[in-house]
Amino acid sequence: MDFTLNEELSLLQKTAREFAEGEVRPVARKMDHEEKFDRRIFARMGELGLTALTIPEKFGGAGFYDNKMANQAASVVLEEINRVCASTGVTLSVHMSLFSSLLTKWGNDEQKQRFLPKMAAGEWMGAYCLSEAGAGSDAGAQACEALKDGSDYVLNGAKLWITSAEYADAFVVMARTSKEHKTKGITAFLVEADRKGVKIGKKEKKMGIRGSATCEVLLEDCRVPAVNLLAGEGKGFTIALDTLDGGRIGIAAQAVGIGRACVEEALEYSKKREQFGQPIGNFQAVQWMLADNATRIDASRLLVHRAAWNRDNGISCVKEAAMAKLFASEACNKAAKDAVQIFGGNGYSKEYDVERFFRDARITQIYEGTSEVQRIVIARALAG
Ligand SMILES: Cc1cc2nc3c(=O)[nH]c(=O)nc-3n(C[C@H](O)[C@H](O)[C@H](O)COP(=O)(O)OP(=O)(O)OC[C@H]3O[C@@H](n4cnc5c(N)ncnc54)[C@H](O)[C@@H]3O)c2cc1C
Repeated sequence: MDFTLNEELSLLQKTAREFAEGEVRPVARKMDHEEKFDRRIFARMGELGLTALTIPEKFGGAGFYDNKMANQAASVVLEEINRVCASTGVTLSVHMSLFSSLLTKWGNDEQKQRFLPKMAAGEWMGAYCLSEAGAGSDAGAQACEALKDGSDYVLNGAKLWITSAEYADAFVVMARTSKEHKTKGITAFLVEADRKGVKIGKKEKKMGIRGSATCEVLLEDCRVPAVNLLAGEGKGFTIALDTLDGGRIGIAAQAVGIGRACVEEALEYSKKREQFGQPIGNFQAVQWMLADNATRIDASRLLVHRAAWNRDNGISCVKEAAMAKLFASEACNKAAKDAVQIFGGNGYSKEYDVERFFRDARITQIYEGTSEVQRIVIARALAG
């Protein structure tokens, strides 16, 4: 048993940390304030190889996938990026976990060759369209239709809450090819953003991760060739669930990053802020908050790395990914709440990053399966 990162992962962590500190931190507050993602940041992640972590070398990947380390590498990087900016973190997480990993696992060589090299280089950004007005936690209740017409499918429907929709170059879209079976009637399609019939609808005004564009994706008589269908008709729900296992590890890593930032910022502040003639960090009430949160964040990271290692090694991670996301997202929210408390009035001000972290933390308990859904997944796995 070894709890240290190997040489490649350590080097990758260093690259991600330096990039996050040097290039993301200067724009993080601005992206949140202006509710606008800085696309140059994504291009830089491409140059650094961070968009290529989950892609095979054959299709432009960075080699981590080939060495059974794709999910571990993604987790290490996502912790570092999210420690500084959760909007950048979720953009990268969706691109890696919900688009590139999905295509790597479920696509054929022709599809991979068409999309993955551009995704690896950061020239293209990927997004994932599952949620709809009536299909949230109950993702199987898809209403979006894909009707076969010659060698094409014609897609109609509205996808909601789509991360990066405003900037994405390609989407994986889940749509119904059969009304007879609920989940077995769902099929996954690759849909380029510039395809006729794809429209970006309303952009959500959000509490947190405001730098990430979350929009409706409207499909209006969108003609998609059958060569863009992934893994066969009726495989969409299986693909969606399997992909979410990987995605949940990414969101759990996001929670570890935000939670770690909260503990670090609160610790530094507690050393400097004096009341009653001494640093507030001398008070046991403050020390215990820091100790409890640091412990929960460390435990979260271990759960993340276990789930990532399982997935990289082809071992089921359904329960492990759900546990990591459930625990890490709850730990992150407690750390964020306590960080605001330790900062006192300053924690309530936009002058300090903990205010942003507090808002950003909340989403980790909601997307890619709410905490309630994670508990359902864990309970089902326990019951066999
Ligand atoms: C910022 C943001 C970004 C997102 N990005 C994407 C994206 O890129 N792609 C995408 O497809 N989707 C995305 N989503 C959608 C997200 O995955 C859903 O919001 C989430 O799965 C919850 O669905 P819902 O909002 O419809 O809530 P609902 O399913 O309506 O749930 C409402 C409440 O009921 C509870 N509940 C529901 N069913 C049960 C049950 N069986 N037992 C107990 N409690 C239950 C839930 O836990 C929750 O507390 C995003 C959402 C947000 C907010």
